[in-house]
Amino acid sequence: MKLSELDTPALIADLDLLEQNLAAMQMHADALGLRLRPHTKAHKIPALARMQLEHGAAGICVAKLGEAEVMARGGIEDILITTPIAGDIKYRRLIQLIRDYPQCRFTQVIDNPAQVSPLATLATAAKVEVALMIEVESGQARCGVAVGDALKELIVQINAVPALRFAGIQAYSGHLQHIKGFAERTRAARDAVAPLFDYIERELKPLGLAPTVVSGAGTGTFAACEGLGFTEIQAGSYLFMDSSYRQIGDERGDSFETFHTALKVWTTVISTPTPNRAVVDAGSKCLSTDMGPAQPEGRSDLSYRSGGDEHGILTLSDGCAPLALGEQLMMIPSHCDTTLNNFSTLYGVRGDEVVCSWIIEGRGRSD
Ligand code: PLP
Ligand code: MN
Repeated sequence: MKLSELDTPALIADLDLLEQNLAAMQMHADALGLRLRPHTKAHKIPALARMQLEHGAAGICVAKLGEAEVMARGGIEDILITTPIAGDIKYRRLIQLIRDYPQCRFTQVIDNPAQVSPLATLATAAKVEVALMIEVESGQARCGVAVGDALKELIVQINAVPALRFAGIQAYSGHLQHIKGFAERTRAARDAVAPLFDYIERELKPLGLAPTVVSGAGTGTFAACEGLGFTEIQAGSYLFMDSSYRQIGDERGDSFETFHTALKVWTTVISTPTPNRAVVDAGSKCLSTDMGPAQPEGRSDLSYRSGGDEHGILTLSDGCAPLALGEQLMMIPSHCDTTLNNFSTLYGVRGDEVVCSWIIEGRGRSD
């Protein structure tokens, strides 16, 4: 099928660019001597996770148990759940998941001693081992136990239960991913985790409590991991990229050229009320606005803003040729994760040919 034959709005992956992104991040991780454990909350599709594994990734991340269920059902065998869980319903679901997929290695992130004893009780009764990774505070003031005695005590508490295994430390500084300027971002990312690596050396190593895995960093900060003590990179957005990441800059300049914008939304002009205004069929229920407006691809003479849930308003600059009713236009999302979650299907495109499609199986699985 030709792209022009595809109904809109449609979520598109430019496969040539996606494959370049896939290879580029693996190459960077290899050069840094770190494992890549891509965060699949960006795509939520087991087939794309398999592609990442085939390129050399050492397991995947998911944000939620719901996504873990989708990825395990899709045949993925090493899954880190990066968001802490709380409450009996969730603890039981985790245990059930481990029982349902004995061939799969699951690791659950926690950050509180109160998560340990209910999981210990359930794991012991179910005769399964639960691997727990401890999230530490690394500047974001989101989740994470403070680096210090509280961290040490949590490790000791986990080690004391035969049915639990201490599987490492997660230090993810989400608030730093979009700092503009490579040098400034790198400095901030390294400063944020310096107390952790100092504490590991000074306090945990002598007690035999040092983690064998330290997992963290994203698309904006992976390069800052060099030589710190991280063992794996959790970047996710690199596979698709988006226009907000495009603006952070890399070692070479103000634009982040390391990865290409491979995720797009194909739209149709549904109204042309005035010479300088046109409306497309993709509003904020398609193109998320949490990180700003989408950008019309390759069209600096057009600007996009949300016109509500179902409409996107294009403003034509002076001299721009009028848009025709029914004309199709490609948009670059400002934020890949929250845009993808609005769609059920992702179409793979090469040039102007639609070559495949995937059901976004984890879409909406924030449970
Ligand atoms: N790790 C965690 C814990 C995250 O929350 C995220 C994204 O929000 C990532 C990794 C991936 O980061 P990015 O999409 O910026 O590459
Ligand atoms: Mn994101």
